Amino acid sequence: MDHQLRRTTLASRIDDLRVDALLVSGGPNVRYLTGFTGSNGQVLVRASEAVFLTDGRYTEQSRHEVPDLERITYLDGLEGPLGELCARLGVARLGFEAGAVTVAARERWSERLSEVDLVGVVDGVERQRWVKDAEELEMLRRAQSVTDQAFEDVLEFLAVGQSEQQVAWELERLLRRDGADGLAFDSIVAFGESAAEPHHVPGHRLLEEGDVIKLDFGALFGGYHADMTRTVSFGAPASQLKKIHDVVREAQQAGIDAVRAGVTGAEVDAAARSVIEGAGYGDAFSHGLGHGVGLEIHEGPRLGRGIEHVLPVGAVVTVEPGVYIPGLGGVRIEDSVEVTDDGCRVLGSSTRDLIEL
Ligand code: ZN
Ligand code: ZN
Repeated sequence: MDHQLRRTTLASRIDDLRVDALLVSGGPNVRYLTGFTGSNGQVLVRASEAVFLTDGRYTEQSRHEVPDLERITYLDGLEGPLGELCARLGVARLGFEAGAVTVAARERWSERLSEVDLVGVVDGVERQRWVKDAEELEMLRRAQSVTDQAFEDVLEFLAVGQSEQQVAWELERLLRRDGADGLAFDSIVAFGESAAEPHHVPGHRLLEEGDVIKLDFGALFGGYHADMTRTVSFGAPASQLKKIHDVVREAQQAGIDAVRAGVTGAEVDAAARSVIEGAGYGDAFSHGLGHGVGLEIHEGPRLGRGIEHVLPVGAVVTVEPGVYIPGLGGVRIEDSVEVTDDGCRVLGSSTRDLIEL
């Protein structure tokens, strides 16, 4: 990963942010700019240089992970060393990440950094992360390929009498077997009427003949998240759910077909949503169409109503329409796609047709 290039790109925007330096403290942003994977680190970026700060637990780890930056390790809180650093570098206006700093920390900094103007910055690094470079795309593809394999294998495991939790554990085992560092997020496994909840937590419900099975899960690989949903049927599904699967499948295809650089998140959402509305299920599609995915499971750019930003080449977004009918069940189909000039590339290879086990 070319962390230096990423910092240079960020530094070129420091003037636009109207600050002398930006203190990046959000975990995924720090990792993106430095490679540091610990739970507490900051990087101060300015036009000509960057300095990394962390606490004493990470002295040794940061020596390995951030060998190319000056590193400051603190024992009694960030404020003291940060104040000294600002004084040394002549930083009078310090940007901080408004989305990553608590109100309590902000107040502490104000007291201790009385010489420095603190300026909250929104989307300082996040926007840059929307566009994935070649190495990030490779990580996402590898995470997806482990996820595709686990999906294929978990179908063999499904049997009458298995609980949702047992299937979730099996998914985790399969992902780790094939090299995942962990789960991208807690897997969603929902049988039958549970599938009417978009984010059902796996419980003790046992699989029965005729259930739909909604699986939303993904591998974590090198810090990058896969995110895929498939809804399959154990035995013949209720005829309404079979129809809903056709509708959601068609809506997802319409969404995928609408993705290309330069279209807005709202336009892609509308392409998929209009299919579901046309089939009479508009009210049952109760969430946005998709989200960016990368170092975080949910990041920008988003696809949804009222989202007016345009998709850039190299963004990776999910396309995940769903229809949920309380008491009956639900269907969601989700894939991640890489935005290109004239369309998109689907990262995964799992079939989107209804599988009847
Ligand atoms: Zn998902
Ligand atoms: Zn998702």
